[in-house]
Amino acid sequence: MKAHKKTVRGRLAPSPSGRMHLGNACSALLAWLSVRAQGGELVLRLEDLDPDRCRPEYCRQVEEDFLWLGLDWDLGGAAGGGDYFQSRRREIYQAYLDRLEEKNLLYPCFCSRGELHAAQAPHASDGTPLYSGTCRNLTPADRLERARLRKPALRVRAPEETVSFQDGRMGEYASRLDRDCGDFILRRSDGVAAYQLAVVVDDGLMGVTEVVRGRDLLGSTPRQIWLQRQLGFPQPVYFHTPLLLAPDGRRLSKRDADLDLGALRAAGVRAEQIVGWLAFRLGLREREELVSARELVSEFSWDRVAKEDIWVDASRIF
Ligand code: GLU
Repeated sequence: MKAHKKTVRGRLAPSPSGRMHLGNACSALLAWLSVRAQGGELVLRLEDLDPDRCRPEYCRQVEEDFLWLGLDWDLGGAAGGGDYFQSRRREIYQAYLDRLEEKNLLYPCFCSRGELHAAQAPHASDGTPLYSGTCRNLTPADRLERARLRKPALRVRAPEETVSFQDGRMGEYASRLDRDCGDFILRRSDGVAAYQLAVVVDDGLMGVTEVVRGRDLLGSTPRQIWLQRQLGFPQPVYFHTPLLLAPDGRRLSKRDADLDLGALRAAGVRAEQIVGWLAFRLGLREREELVSARELVSEFSWDRVAKEDIWVDASRIF
């Protein structure tokens, strides 16, 4: 008898802070293909935590761009009501912060951006300076005093612990949390939950079993796994995908407006051209040809996905 296998559930987790670019399309295509090839389900979660950068019209646009590319989902998005918009899940994140607080893992941090940058600290794997620990051991009286002047952020105490995991594309990855990431922020001083917390809580509550996302987030994964363990969530499997790099080595970002889907669509580029170009550069097809996302499902395998990042010369594609 075949053992009952749990349905795979993946997610599309765009940050609606502008129009999606080719790099976002690349990781979304792989997340979609991996789940569809296994007959699983996809959740669309809008990571619109940052009220200064995210707008409702970008949320609508991202859904429309996904569908145009041929990437659909089974749960979430606007049709899922507010439940799949991080901006509307504030109380949920707070409830999980309270749990961490009960375990005495959090402390308020009153440092200003300027103070953080001025501290000559070593850098974490994602390039942010390791926190120097200024507010880690303040007395209750100090905290009261400082709270009069400034609203604090909440940091978590990074343990002297090594967390390792097996990435489905990149192999074994380990990080010693106190040295490689240091005490990190879980709630900003304006009360907004930090990405590291929201992603762990949402993947846990939304039953996500497979996380596929850009390699730039590889360094965040050990701390997310550690948070999952503190909060009692199961660990999904991870695949970190190739990045699209500009000729100067920079990762493509929303600032590369000529390669966002708005510009490409306005120039008359078709979805099958974009998917075909990505499939070729990812190693899923031997030639650059018109292909729909759906046509790639039956032949998809992670073994075929390129091991290297993808260099993009914007002037020579499409
Ligand atoms: N919202 C993030 C992004 O668009 C992805 C976060 C994640 O997949 O964990 O880059």
